[in-house]
This record gives sequence, C-alpha cells and structure tokens, in this order.
Amino acid sequence: MASEKKRDYYEVLGVSRDASADDIKRAFRRKAKDCHPDAHPNDPEAEARFKELNEANDVLSDPDKRARYDQFGFEDPMQGMGGGWSGAGGMDVEDVLNSFFGGGMGSMFGGGGRRSAGPVQGNNLRYELRVTFEEAARGCEKSFDFYRSEECDTCGGTGAKPGTKPVTCTTCRGSGQIRTGNGFFTMARTCPTCQGTGKMVQDKCSACGGSGRKRMRRTANVRVPAGIDNGQTIVINGQGEPGMRGGPSGDLYVTVLVKPHKVFQRDGYDLLLDFPISFTQAALGAELDVPTLDGTVKYRIPEGTQTGTQFRIKNQGIQVLNGRSKGDLVLTVHVDVPKRLSEKQKDLLRQFEASATGREYEGRKTFMDKIKNAFGG
Ligand SMILES: [Zn+2]
Ligand SMILES: [Zn+2]
Repeated sequence: MASEKKRDYYEVLGVSRDASADDIKRAFRRKAKDCHPDAHPNDPEAEARFKELNEANDVLSDPDKRARYDQFGFEDPMQGMGGGWSGAGGMDVEDVLNSFFGGGMGSMFGGGGRRSAGPVQGNNLRYELRVTFEEAARGCEKSFDFYRSEECDTCGGTGAKPGTKPVTCTTCRGSGQIRTGNGFFTMARTCPTCQGTGKMVQDKCSACGGSGRKRMRRTANVRVPAGIDNGQTIVINGQGEPGMRGGPSGDLYVTVLVKPHKVFQRDGYDLLLDFPISFTQAALGAELDVPTLDGTVKYRIPEGTQTGTQFRIKNQGIQVLNGRSKGDLVLTVHVDVPKRLSEKQKDLLRQFEASATGREYEGRKTFMDKIKNAFGG
C-alpha cells in the first residue's frame, strides 16, 4: 500500500478543504450510494472506491482526525505511535501515572500486566495552547509550563529511600509472576506487589512516595506557524514523558486554541469583515478606510452599492499555513440607517424624497412591477 499513491481525502469526497461537517456528511452519503458494493456486485473497482470513500469519511468526519490530516496529511505522526496517551480520555496525567506506578495499581489492571521489564516509551502528553487571533495569523513563538512525570532524582527511580535498596519481592520471591492452579491448568499472572519487577521497596523514598517518579514542572518553547487554525496540533518531539529503562521519550502534542477576534472572522484563509456604511456613502460611493491585520487599506466602493454587497480585497487575509500566499479580506457592507436626526436633516431628506422620480430605485421599481403583474393593478 505504501508505494501506491493515495488520493487526497477531500478529493475522494469531492469537497473543498473548508467544507463543513454537514457538507462532508452529504457528500459521503451521495458517493456511498453511487459505489456501494450492493449496486456493483463482483466489481473490484467499485469495492476499492467504496473502501477509499469510507476511509476518507472516517478521517474527515472526525474533527480531531481531520485536524491532524489537515496538518500532516498521510504522514500523521500519531499513526503507529508507540506510547499511549496520557492526559486524554478523562484521566489526567496524574491518574495515569498513579495507575501505572502507584501502590494500588494491581487492582486497576487486574494484575498489572501492563508493566514489562524491557524499555518502555514515555507517554505522549497533550497541551492546549491559547493564542490570540493575530498570533495564529502571523505566527509566534510561545513558551509555556507543563507538568510531566519523570524519574525521581532523589532515588534514581528505584522508589527506595537513599541509602537503601529495593529488596526481593516477598509475594513472588523475585520471579515477577504468580502461578495459580495445579495439574494441567497453571495460570501465570504478573505479581501485583511488584508489578512484575521482582523487587519491592521497604523504606520508601520520601520525595516520590516510593513510586520512583515525580511530577515535574517543565517549560516548553514552541514555534506557532503563521496561518495555523483553531484546533490544529503541533508536535514537539521528545518532550513528552521520559521513557523507562532506556525507552525513548514520548512527544508533546500542542493543540492550538485561537481566541476569536473582535472584528474579523476567519473562513479558511480569508478574513471576513462586516462594515457599516452610511446610506449617503452607499448612494454616492465612497473611499473606505478598511481595517486589516496590519493596519488599514483604502478601498473604493462604487455609487449605488446595495446593503449586503461583498467586496474581496486580494491578499489581505491570512497567510497560508506552510505557504507563501495569503487569503483575501472579504468585506460585507451594511447600510446603517441613521437615527436621532435633527429637524434640518429630516427636512433635507424630505426634499430628497420629494425630488425622487422612482427611477433611482431599481429594486423598488422591479418590486412594484411584479406587484402590478401579480395583482393586475
Ligand atoms: Zn524517589
Ligand atoms: Zn513480586
């Protein structure tokens, strides 16, 4: 499979990269109907297409998987990952550690079969990093503190009080396993006292309570690339929990949470902006001072601009992630009808209204004509 070039999941579903969850659901249903194996019996090509479609849907309909696919494509570092997650699935890091290393773990895993004597890769950790809209758009360097479990430096990870050593486990007499049953049926399970290590601690290290691990506060630095979007993940290799018995460290997965902007909204790499204008500006045309991420730009709207009209200002959007180009700034103008007018202003407007012949209003004229047609007036 590896040599075969896989088709882009968005292409498979025939949707754009900014398709909504509903778009994806609809596209999948439509395509699944087309190439469902029931409709094409004994057609290996249809079957392959159906499989491909299911795979694409599986990834794109799951927000987490989709975010990772958007960032990493088919090279997702989480596929085939050695270490497990910690901090995920409702357990916090400490719960996971306690369950792995704490005294009461035997009951938790029904015998503690998870602990092996060989090298073990450290857990991956997850961190949620909050950035401002501008920081995400322009990119930034961030540092943050996080906790991770590391080997206790007081006891060197043995869990034994300095100056003492772990002794042979009395439950299993050092074998790490407990055998039950007799005759033909002998069951071996990992010793719950020592979790299979064959050693137990008599005088516990006071720094780590005998677990051999300590929760340490660490600082990570991360470069947030320009154009990153809410929910996308950056991987910092080797910054997760250190491995045990020579195993490699886990990775630190930093999920970026972008604060909404007060003025702009984001649509892919385009910036959306609602811009109120006066009806005079709408009628006469105007040069607007349009805010951008970097300041303001002048933009001329034409005479007779209707409310709701969109204007696209090229290359004033967000920089494309890992690219050079930029999205656009999409301006939607709204006519802000004035209130609290003075008598003089009202008078001017009445004069204007009296001078109108009706030809000035295209929409109203069409509307009146329709009414005439409909009701025979
Ligand atoms: Zn210790
Ligand atoms: Zn034991």
